[in-house]
Formats: sequence, structure tokens, C-alpha cells
Amino acid sequence: MKYREYGSTGKKVSVIGFGGMRFGADEDYAADVVRHANSLGINYFDTAPFYCNDRSEIIMGKAFKKMPADFYVSTKSSINSDATADKVRWRIENSLERFGLDKINFFHMWCIMDLNQYERVMAPGGPYEGALKAKEEGLIEHLVFSTHCKGEDIRRIIEDKVFEGVLLGYNVINHNYRQEGVAAAHENKLGVVTMNPLGGGLIPQHGDYFSFLKQYENETVSQAALRFNAYQKGITVSLAGMGTIEEVNENVRTVENPIDFSVEKLKEIKERVGNGFNNLCTTCGYCLKCPKKIKISTYLEAYNLMLLDNEEAMHRHFNWFKEKGRLKETDTLPDECIACGVCEGLCTQKLPIIERLKEISQLMK
Ligand code: SF4
Ligand code: SF4
Repeated sequence: MKYREYGSTGKKVSVIGFGGMRFGADEDYAADVVRHANSLGINYFDTAPFYCNDRSEIIMGKAFKKMPADFYVSTKSSINSDATADKVRWRIENSLERFGLDKINFFHMWCIMDLNQYERVMAPGGPYEGALKAKEEGLIEHLVFSTHCKGEDIRRIIEDKVFEGVLLGYNVINHNYRQEGVAAAHENKLGVVTMNPLGGGLIPQHGDYFSFLKQYENETVSQAALRFNAYQKGITVSLAGMGTIEEVNENVRTVENPIDFSVEKLKEIKERVGNGFNNLCTTCGYCLKCPKKIKISTYLEAYNLMLLDNEEAMHRHFNWFKEKGRLKETDTLPDECIACGVCEGLCTQKLPIIERLKEISQLMK
């Protein structure tokens, strides 16, 4: 296993991290999977309340009772469920009890979507205040944040110098739009953890389209996509969701080979992502200034599947978003678009968003 320094924390973490959002029903087996990963050198374990129907932290706690090697745990609190300092305190104590530990190594202010939400996280009596107090008391070691903001907004948060690391969605499709955030983290000596290396399943589901990522004969498209994150020096840990022993073995094998990409391969990737995928939404989030609060990038991310595959694949993706809580029943529907055009003016891919939302709305009926 390869290791990197996590920002200025003094901790050395494995370049592949264990994403605890893919456990199946058998909790004893799931705990074995966690321990197996640890025995192969993975020492960064990421979980959260609500993952796997709220069982992920509990499964991690089972595994932690008999871990074969040293490890770090990362978990989270969302302003959507824990809006006050007191609620965050309760959340931290609850996670610690589930883990059977006396401290959380990396605690995230979870899923900051934009600067407005960031202000609410930082407001007096709000989530950050509760987490900071817990840190001062030794219940948390490092206070970090996770985000789906665009690169410049991530920079803006980082430059406030209140966090020691950042977790962000990053993959070969959307990397151009998050690079600014990775660069800002690097300049400010923050750790960078990436999630979603497979583009929400888009990449392995379309192995033929993405086969250009592969550099080695025996490499799978998923391994190449994970390696694309892991090879970048600005990224400390690349999380991969792991639910089985086989998935752990495959991910560990990914970084046993040299992880660098050749100059020619990088040039090819740049050309393909820049030109070949012009029609795809990159989920960069630049368009998210919709007055109707339509989750444009979420709908268009699912529509990508329609372009790459078929309608059924798009519906499967919608269901996946619902399971993950990224689409809720209370969200504004695409047919509530008033065609103001704000999003199209901002879209980095110059996509016909209004037309697409109309089409999606028909297909959803
Ligand atoms: S055109 Fe529709 S989706 Fe785009 S910003 Fe306006 S209301 Fe929102
Ligand atoms: S619709 Fe355009 S601006 Fe919005 S997330 Fe997709 S690519 Fe980015």
C-alpha cells in the first residue's frame, strides 16, 4: 500500500480509502470486509450516519473491536439533520458510542452545497461551533468539510482557514471543475479526500465508452478510473465504496502497480473528456443558481445515462439518487422550470438545459 501525508496533521494515510456506503445485509461479513481492507494496508475508513440505512457506523464499530492494524475513522454531520451546535454534539457522542472509540480522527461538516449553506454552518450556535467545542475537548482530532461546491467556492472556504481537510466528488469526467479546489487545498496544506471516482457508476456501466482510460492490459475501467484519482499528488486519499472482499482486493491491486499515467495517456484523456463528452453534464454545479431551486445537475447527471445507454439506465440512476437522498419528494420537479435561462447562461458545457428538463419531465411521467 502507498501512503501520503494528510495535510498538516502529521498522519500518514493510505492512498485508497475505504468508503463505507456499500455494505450488504450481513453485518458480520461486512465487518470482516472492513478488517480485511485494514489487513491489506488501508488505514482510512470513511462512514457517515444514514449510510446503508444508518447501519454503516454500527458495522464499522463491530469491525473496530478487532482491527488487525492501526486505522483512522472519518464520519460526518449534516446541517440538514444537525442544524445546531447541541445537535452536532449529540451526533458526535452517538457516533463515538457506535464506534466504541473515544475520539473521531476526521469529522466532516457534511455536504456543503454552496456558500450560503457554508455561512449557516459557521453561524453562531451552529454546527461548526458544536464541532469546534468537541475538538477542544478531544472528541475530534481534525475538523474537515465535504462539499459539492464548484472549485472557486471551495477555494473561498479553504481560505477562511477553519478546516484541516476537504472531501470532494472528483472523477475523470468532472475533474476540470473541481481542480481549483484541489489546488487551493494543496496551497493551504489541507488534506484532500476524493469520493465518487466512478462517476456514480457511470464509468463502469459504460466500460466501452471509457475504455480509453485503461493503460495496462489487465486493468479494468474501474481500476483505471480509481487510479486516475489516486495518481494525483494533490489528492491524499481516494475513497472507493467496498462491500465485498473481492472489491477490496481489486482496489488494493489497483495501487500495487505504478499509479502514474503516461504523458500520452493523460493527453488522450484530456482530449476525450474535453471534446468527446461535450454532450454530457459534468456535474460541475456552475448552473446551480436556479430561482426555482431545481437540482439541475442531478437531473442531468441521470440524463447522461440516457445519452450513453438508454431510458431504463436513466431511471435506474434516478432510483439510486432517491436511495442516496440526493433526490427527495420535496424537491422541485423539472417541469416547474420557468425557462428563465439563468442556468444555460452559466453552463460550462453549453447544454440545452431547458429542453433537457422538459424531456426528463416527460420521461418521468
Ligand atoms: S431555466 Fe429553468 S432550470 Fe434553468 S435556472 Fe431558470 S428555472 Fe431554473
Ligand atoms: S448542466 Fe452544465 S453547468 Fe450544470 S452541472 Fe451540468 S455541465 Fe455543469
